[in-house]
Amino acid sequence: MDILLTNIQSFLLNTLLIYFGFTIYFKFLERKVNQIAHTLIIILICGISIVFSMSFPIILLNEIPIDFRQIPLIIGALYGGRRAACILTAILLGYRFVLGVPDFLSALFVYSLLLLLLVVVLPFFKKAAVLKKKLWVALCISLTAALATLALNLLLLPLAVTAAFVVFAVLISALQTIGLLLCVWMIEKAKKEMILSEEIAKLEKLKTVSTIAASISHEVRNPLTVTKGFLQLLRDPQLSNQEKDYYISTAVEALNKAESIITDYLTFAKPSLENVEVLDLQHELMNISHFVEPYAAMNDVEIKTNFQKNSLLAGEKEKFHQCILNIAKNGIEAMPGGGTLTIELNRFKDHAVITVADTGIGMNKEQIERLGNPFFTTKDLGTGLGTMVVYSTVKSMRGSVQVKSEPAKGTRFVLSFPAAEQSGSAG
Ligand code: ADP
Ligand code: MG
Repeated sequence: MDILLTNIQSFLLNTLLIYFGFTIYFKFLERKVNQIAHTLIIILICGISIVFSMSFPIILLNEIPIDFRQIPLIIGALYGGRRAACILTAILLGYRFVLGVPDFLSALFVYSLLLLLLVVVLPFFKKAAVLKKKLWVALCISLTAALATLALNLLLLPLAVTAAFVVFAVLISALQTIGLLLCVWMIEKAKKEMILSEEIAKLEKLKTVSTIAASISHEVRNPLTVTKGFLQLLRDPQLSNQEKDYYISTAVEALNKAESIITDYLTFAKPSLENVEVLDLQHELMNISHFVEPYAAMNDVEIKTNFQKNSLLAGEKEKFHQCILNIAKNGIEAMPGGGTLTIELNRFKDHAVITVADTGIGMNKEQIERLGNPFFTTKDLGTGLGTMVVYSTVKSMRGSVQVKSEPAKGTRFVLSFPAAEQSGSAG
């Protein structure tokens, strides 16, 4: 009975070690790593578990050591793929060799067979859409592995095998199978949880979009009504030219507002990056500054650019333009009496930092806090969507926004993005 208890202890330690490693991995890291890093991390977690479980085996009757090394091996193969399976088998055999356990050749034989089995059933495990199927595949693997090990022991140590040994071996196999199934179950749960939290984030976004859509129609209808009214007034044949001009320009202004609401909204409603390309930031910022120059000149604003260190950024060109444009436009609009708009580009470590600063009216604390909320505007003709677009676009490009502002002094928007590598990898 004592031996069984020690076994349970070792069994729990083994499964918990894998579970702990995998949960941390799936919760915080999986999204951020590429395929190679994914395989490496799984090899690391399972490799450590294998070495750990082999270092603390349980000496059964007749001094036959037994441990749960097969659990991390199988789990590593199932989640890390063929390459991980091969490397983990090599680690296992290598460590067994180092430990100097006899009958290395027969172990080599058994684990080669197990590796073959794993490679063959891997696609089935990957394809299994529901947890139940995955558990079934894991069950089959575990039972086959246990049988193979038992057969090996029977072949090698026919003398040591007693009835008691067989009972223990069956018990251990059962424990191992339960451990394996538990691991698969917990890993799948952790994965599902991660997918779920992503879904929630998407839903939240969808909710914002639909709430805004409702108010958008309202916001667009106003300018349209205004335009309609002025067009009807224009029918009057007795209108003076001056009046006509006034009506027409007011109607055009209203239509412009409706148009800008729709442009801003569309940029926001579709922030998933579709045509991701590698942008040369200096080139793009130059284009943008040329683009806003007429608008700035009209407002007596001088645009200064200061590009210290160029960077590349993986992102969607149109949205990036729209984002910087919205900030620059706000800056210009914040300087009704003229001023300077500075656009800077710099690089700190692996981050590209873009700064857009104005010398305008600035904002108080409350205004800064409301920045980015839909329809927050202090302008008569404002839409209150510009900064919201800025925030969502920057977020979708994995960047961050910092705003520093002082009333009557000016505002500084600092955007920081992870810089892309030259090769053009987008993710
Ligand atoms: P809009 O420009 O249509 O008002 P935005 O979302 O672009 O909508 O901006 C929201 C509000 O944030 C503006 O009305 C303004 O009060 C404030 N704001 C944004 N940028 C600046 C800035 N550079 N200086 C001062 N106030 C700003
Ligand atoms: Mg704006």
